[in-house]
Formats: sequence, structure tokens, C-alpha cells
Amino acid sequence: MRQKKSHQALDSTARQRIIGFDIDGVLTDEMSGGKNIWQREIEAYFPGIQLLEPDFTFTAAFGLSLEEVDRFMEERAPEVFRKVKPQPGSRELIEYLQDAGFTVHLITARFPCYEDVTREWLASHGFRPNALWFVNAKGALCRELGVELFVDDYWENCLDVRDHGIKALLMSAPHNLGCPEEQGICRVENWEEIRAHVREYYGLSGWERGQVSGTSAL
Ligand SMILES: [Mg+2]
Repeated sequence: MRQKKSHQALDSTARQRIIGFDIDGVLTDEMSGGKNIWQREIEAYFPGIQLLEPDFTFTAAFGLSLEEVDRFMEERAPEVFRKVKPQPGSRELIEYLQDAGFTVHLITARFPCYEDVTREWLASHGFRPNALWFVNAKGALCRELGVELFVDDYWENCLDVRDHGIKALLMSAPHNLGCPEEQGICRVENWEEIRAHVREYYGLSGWERGQVSGTSAL
């Protein structure tokens, strides 16, 4: 028993405490008000349009052409990025982790042209990530950065990250509800559940008392 405990201690201290989060659908609360913010905007922009099926891509979800999606994004995306609300508990947990010595990377597939509006939104809601990345190939970047746990709402990204040896958490969203159980990927519904997974993964004791073992920041 003593030997097992010592292994657990070694495992948790060996981790570097580098963690990553997607932005859209993870930091942002797209379902605020009961209807997806993008669906509301698309319905307003294309009068009469209807949601065909929940899908990550607007082309499949609404039967739009790539050109229509590009036009919509160019005209409306910055405003959506500005006004979307953060998910409850997201800033608090990230701040808590950083105070406890974690490095937090935000990794988004938004186009780099949205960097300014993204940084303004993050700052206005009190997010101060250690780094912000705009890439599609999230698994390779996570491995390069040494990310140990990553949260995304896009199933394909979770598979990619998992296949690079990183623990993935899938944030539930209408477009991923049909995705199957997969080893190395855990579904979460909110930031309270993310917090529980982080605590378990890193073996953090004393969390409830506001103290994280092995850190001096708290
Ligand atoms: Mg996302």
C-alpha cells in the first residue's frame, strides 16, 4: 500500500501542469439564452433559413455554401466574438490554476485575423492566458507545448489530441451529442466538471480548502 502511494505521488509531481483550452464552445457560452448564438445570428442574417441538423460546420448545419458562410463570418463574426458571454466558472478556474502554478494555453481554430477581437474579449472578461494560439492542428501543437490535458467541443479535435497522447475532455454541445464513448476522451457538461477532472488528473488534494498540494501560491 505504501509503495502504491509513493507511485501516485511521483506520478502527480512528474506532471508539468500544462493545460489547454479551446475558446469557442468551451470558454464561450454559445447556448446562453437557450438558443445557440450562431444560430440566432445566422437566422437573422439569412431570413427564412432553418437549422437542418446540429453540426459543427455551418455549411452542413444550415445548408449554406462556403461563399455564404465566408460572407456571413466576415460581416458578423467580430460582433459575435465581442458579445458572446463566458461560461460560468471558466475565468475562476483558469485564474485558480494559474495561481497554483499551472501554465494555461488557449488554442483556437479561429482565423488569425480575429486575434485583436479575441484578445480584447479575453481581457474584458479577465482571462490572462499564458499564451494564445490560432491553429487547426491542435494535437501536434499540444504535444509540442507539453500540454497534458485539453478541453474542446469539437469531436475531431479531441480525437486528434487524444491520438497525440494527451487527455481530452469533450465539452458537450448539440453538435457532438451523437459522438460515441472513446477511450482517452471524457465528456463534460460544464466547468464544474472540468474542475473535477483536473483535480483527479493531477491528484490535487486540499482543493476544497483553497489549497493545492505542492504549490506555494495558495
Ligand atoms: Mg470550439
